[in-house]
Amino acid sequence: MIILMFLILKVLILDIFNYAMEITFTTEKIDKKLYEQLILFYIYEHYNYRDHKRIVDQDKWKIEIKRTQDFNTTFYNDSARQEELDYSLPHGVTGLGKVTCYIQDNNNDMYTMQNMSVICHELAHMILMIYYPSKTVQQRYNDYYGRTGDTRKFFSCEVHDRVTEGRTKIFERKLSVTKKYRFIGVDISDITNDRNTIRV
Ligand SMILES: [Zn+2]
Repeated sequence: MIILMFLILKVLILDIFNYAMEITFTTEKIDKKLYEQLILFYIYEHYNYRDHKRIVDQDKWKIEIKRTQDFNTTFYNDSARQEELDYSLPHGVTGLGKVTCYIQDNNNDMYTMQNMSVICHELAHMILMIYYPSKTVQQRYNDYYGRTGDTRKFFSCEVHDRVTEGRTKIFERKLSVTKKYRFIGVDISDITNDRNTIRV
């Protein structure tokens, strides 16, 4: 009986952690299945199984992976960002239930590493938006959107400040018994929960 309950629970947890997010690709060359696994891994490393409400919120988000050449350059038509962004470089946009990442559509480990660091940057904005929707802070460094000391949304500012500080973490996703994939993403683990720990 206990074993059966454990199995049911395990299936439920696996279900919550693996199958809910909608991730779409308009790329042609990258290994979509690998990216999907790495994206889901990064996201759900930041939640505890008891974070029901947050996981429900999280599951409503959509993630789009597109090629850098698909980026519509008229998107930022009124800001200084237009001048500062090099559209051939991987980058992303996060807001209102959707993350869009523009990446190099090249199936090569070096590009995968670079792409994943950009994707994790956007995912970190999304995760912190779910944890801290209205919290504000003073930014520690200048960035595209403001200057040191400006009051900004925590979910936006904290990711950029941490990237400036080089606060990254190596994530290791097990792909099979013998194979694992390592990638580097911005480290927000101390301000979120994880699978085993409740912090906030
Ligand atoms: Zn950002």
